[in-house]
Parts: sequence; structure tokens; C-alpha cells
Amino acid sequence: MGTISPISFRKKLLTWSEEHPRNLPWTNIVDPYTIWISEVILQQTRAEQAIPYYQKLMKSFPSLAHLANSSLDELLLIWEGLGYYSRARNLHKAAKFIQNELNGVFPNTYSEILKLPGVGDYTAAAISSFAFKLAFPVVDGNVVRVLGRLCGVESSFHSTEGRKQFYQLANQFLDQKVPDLYNQAIMDFGATHCLPSNPLCNSCPFHLQCTAYKIGRIQDFPIKKSRQKSSEKFLHYFLLQDSKDRIIIRQRDDRSIWKNLFELPGLFLDQEKTLTAPQIKKNLRLFGIALNNYKILKIKQYHHLLTHLKLNIKFYIIHYDGLKDQKTLNKIQMVEIKTLSKYAFPKIIRLFLDQNLNRRYAK
Ligand code: SF4
Repeated sequence: MGTISPISFRKKLLTWSEEHPRNLPWTNIVDPYTIWISEVILQQTRAEQAIPYYQKLMKSFPSLAHLANSSLDELLLIWEGLGYYSRARNLHKAAKFIQNELNGVFPNTYSEILKLPGVGDYTAAAISSFAFKLAFPVVDGNVVRVLGRLCGVESSFHSTEGRKQFYQLANQFLDQKVPDLYNQAIMDFGATHCLPSNPLCNSCPFHLQCTAYKIGRIQDFPIKKSRQKSSEKFLHYFLLQDSKDRIIIRQRDDRSIWKNLFELPGLFLDQEKTLTAPQIKKNLRLFGIALNNYKILKIKQYHHLLTHLKLNIKFYIIHYDGLKDQKTLNKIQMVEIKTLSKYAFPKIIRLFLDQNLNRRYAK
């Protein structure tokens, strides 16, 4: 452990927190449902980016019953652009579970909260401490950075050993009497003071005890996880637009990260290439699509970075007169461009549609 005692750390941290209030929309809220929504959004999203999504979600689903009675498509539409869509699917599943199996009452113990779909150690600790004042430490990226630097932890949080070490430290430092205030304070301190780059060490209440500061190795901590090689995929999408300003879309029903979202008919390839007209025709047949008098107007290239995946996407903009046979269509829908705002698309597809449809649609 570092050279600061847990008692001294808590005292200084809570004083710092009082002097640096961070007024975010979910600060000081004790309703478990509201805390849950905000914490799930914050799992992979910065506070500034999270605010408009949090506000939209709370407006559309002010209570657990509202969320449980909504459709997944409604939730995904609001979630669109936030990424990591499994969070939305799990929120929906958990809301239905609480409504149907727990009589609509949010669980009030750490172990029961942890059983909810999509809730891990971090979220369970946040809800337990903020809503029920239970003494469980939150350990997110901010907390790992603060404790990793303060105590000079030489293991990565992403290793089994490192995770154990960080949780031991987090439990030792946690203020059992006011776990809610302590958890909020340490996360705020990491987010606004002990920053990833250029932390404000000169005005830090811990700089005399901070291991990383004392040994001049601030940028070495927290220890990073070993780099995972990112892979590359090549996607081909067909924007099929007819003379009545309609396009063809489909809803993903596989197990991918974009499950339940809408996209265009298309295919994945492992290598870079441009499809020829006969190849496009052949692939469209897999969706039961046979076009009359079509023309490939343009091919547009987009790139999209996911956590460990680089997507290279080619969009083929195709205009056509009509379909040879509507009855053969396979899991696809023909929709008017002006109604596209009703469907949730992955961010990169929405961007392409916004930039390339020759008829704007209200969003
Ligand atoms: S001295 Fe710098 S690195 Fe250490 S806890 Fe304070 S802000 Fe973070």
C-alpha cells in the first residue's frame, strides 16, 4: 500500500469533494431506478456525453414501469449513437424482470442487484451505496487511476492479480460510514483532478503521499493492459432507393453487437474489395431482392472504429425502378425515407444516411 493511511485519505478526499461539488443531473439522487439508468449509461460513456441521453431516457421512461412496458425498439431508438447496445438490451430485460418477478420493487441488496442482467461489480456497488448506503466500493477507471497512482500498484486492473489488489485497496480506503459520499468523491476526483493526462498534482491534497508523484512516474500508472490486436472487417451495404423515395432496411436478429438495430442489406468480407454488379445482384438475391432497371450511382467509403475492430464500410448507392417479385423478400422491409427517424441504426449507418439520402427526413 502507499504511504497514506485510509483515515487520512478519506478525510482529505471528503474535504476536497465538499470544496469541488460536481453538479451532474444524477448527483444526490437516491432513487435506485434513476441511479441504475445513469450508471448503466456511464459504464462506457463520459459524463458530458451521457447527460443528453440520460435526460431523454428519464423523460421517456420516468419510472421502472414505463421502461418495463415499453418496446425494445423504443429504447434502442433513444439509445442510438451511444454504442455498446447490449447495455440497452440488458436494461430492458432487467426492467421486465423486476416488474414481473419482483413485483416492480427494485432489489435492495448488493447480491440481488448483481443478479440483474447487465449489472456487474461496479454498477452493483454504485446502486448499493448511492441508493441504500451499503458499504461497497465502486471501482471504475477513475478509481483505478487514483488508487493505482497513489499506491503505485504495479499490476494491471485487467489481470486477475491486479483486480484482486485494486479491490483490496478499494475496500481498505472505503469510508464505511458514508460509502455514498466517499464513492462519489473518489470518482469525481479521478474525473476532474487526477486526470489521465496532465493531472493537477500541484494542487492535489495527496501529492506529498502519492507514490507515482514522488517517484516521477505519473504517466506509468495505472499499468495498462497488454495490447490486444485489433482486427479489421470489410462491410458492404446496399442503399436501394426507388422512385417513390423508399429504401430497403432490415433488423438484425443475430447475436452481434448490433442485434435488434436496423441496417441496410449487406454482407461482411474478410478482405478489401469492390463488388461488381453481378456480385451485388447475387448477394441481393440472398435477401429475396430482384431489382428492375437498377443503376449503381456511387460507392461511398466509411471507416468506423469499435473497441477491437476496425470496420471498413462500402456503401453502394443504387437506384431502381421496382422489384421483380415482392413475395420473395426475406426479413427485410421497404420504408419511406421520411419515416427513417423511427428506426434505430448503428451510428455509422445513420451518419451515412444523413449525408447521402437525396431526400431529408425529420429527426
Ligand atoms: S499527486 Fe497527481 S497523480 Fe498523485 S493523486 Fe494527486 S493528482 Fe493524482
